[in-house]
Amino acid sequence: MLIKNAWLQGRPVDVRVAATVEAIAPQLNAMRNESVLDAGGGEILPGLHDHHIHLFAAAAAQGSVSCNVGGGSLARCREVLAERLANAPGSGWIRGVDYHEQQLGELDRWRLDELCSHRPLRIQHRSGKLWVCNSIAVQALDLGAFTHLNGVQCDASGQLTGCVVRNDELMAQQLDAIGASSMPDIAAFSRQLASFGIVSVTDTSATNTQKSAVDLQRLRADGALLQQVSLMGDDTLDHGYLKVLLDEDRLPALQTLVARINAARSRGRNIAFHCVTHLELVFALAALADATPIEQGFDRIEHGAVIDDAMADELAARNLPVITQPGFLYSKGDQYRADLPQQELECLYRYAGLRARGVKVVPSSDAPYGPVSPWQNIATAACRRSAGGLSLGADECVSSDQALTGYLTPSALLDQPLTLAQAQEVCSGMRGDLCILQKRWEQGRDRPETVGVRATLIGGSVAFDGAD
Ligand SMILES: [Zn+2]
Repeated sequence: MLIKNAWLQGRPVDVRVAATVEAIAPQLNAMRNESVLDAGGGEILPGLHDHHIHLFAAAAAQGSVSCNVGGGSLARCREVLAERLANAPGSGWIRGVDYHEQQLGELDRWRLDELCSHRPLRIQHRSGKLWVCNSIAVQALDLGAFTHLNGVQCDASGQLTGCVVRNDELMAQQLDAIGASSMPDIAAFSRQLASFGIVSVTDTSATNTQKSAVDLQRLRADGALLQQVSLMGDDTLDHGYLKVLLDEDRLPALQTLVARINAARSRGRNIAFHCVTHLELVFALAALADATPIEQGFDRIEHGAVIDDAMADELAARNLPVITQPGFLYSKGDQYRADLPQQELECLYRYAGLRARGVKVVPSSDAPYGPVSPWQNIATAACRRSAGGLSLGADECVSSDQALTGYLTPSALLDQPLTLAQAQEVCSGMRGDLCILQKRWEQGRDRPETVGVRATLIGGSVAFDGAD
């Protein structure tokens, strides 16, 4: 394929691309039968990478009922949700997502029965940590048989509350057993990612197993999943990062974690720690200090919502990049204001301040828990404003160039200090993974959310064409 009239780092170019980029010149002529894409003067970039995403959950969220009911009284919020549940399409299971207790109060099976008692219902907390089932769902999933397991909650009188904390494996296993699990529409979600210019993702789900790796390979081979995927996952996965979920109210014994790290290290795997709070980060660093030293590559800190200067210095010294989510400031910022003192609001999901202390920081979506659009997330990294317009720590703003650099950095290079010029380099011989913007980056960098993608190529094939 020949891409005409593109803009590459300050100069007009034509680009010939197959599985790899074959030629770049001020002017190239189409060969016989060669298809031509007119870039209309738009910037040509290597494709974007989303460094932290949950593919299956994000695809499933698109067919789920949103429990984000906005503002208003508790009664009003519950009324709105009840209406949405009553109107949910289909007849069997209902899957709800994005529930927050600030809107709907604490939920359990009995509260959910008040909202929906005629169909089995499970809803997921906004954090992804918790599922709440109504009574029909509790019955159908036979949760009573699993009260000995982690996270299956009972009240003081021993009755199941319908809450399952951090045990997605059990939920998946039981839904599977009763034939209620349905494969989410990965193809549709993958096309959406392509429409944003995303050519590869890192699926960071802690529940990923060898089977997940096989499923994703099959989806790639079928053409349903367009992006390349790096997988992290649980202890059984034989490659990729071990994803360690740390929740400060239920931390494991330090030596247990050290043993897990050592086992992963012995298989050549590095470690990605889910750390939101200060204590979780302290715990992760303590475990790393006790564990077998890393041999090559780097470990990663996911989220890093709360990192003070002393911890930042530690991360810089240990070459631990932070994979942050500026999008949370946009989608959850107004909620944070209700939950947190101003002083803490100012230093949530720090970015510029960490970089200033030598920490490598890259943005990502954490979809479906954060907004998926990289352009929205780049804009938020640069302005740090919530959806409601609240400013959250202006000192931590980075330039949109800086945030774009993170999205353009391949996952193997997250610990490298790349400049935008290096990260946006398109050259002969590189993989044919390209994102063409509707305009030059210099015309859009002040409002990245309005840039627009003209086309996305993955392995030389058109994965998205804005002209269609
Ligand atoms: Zn995540």
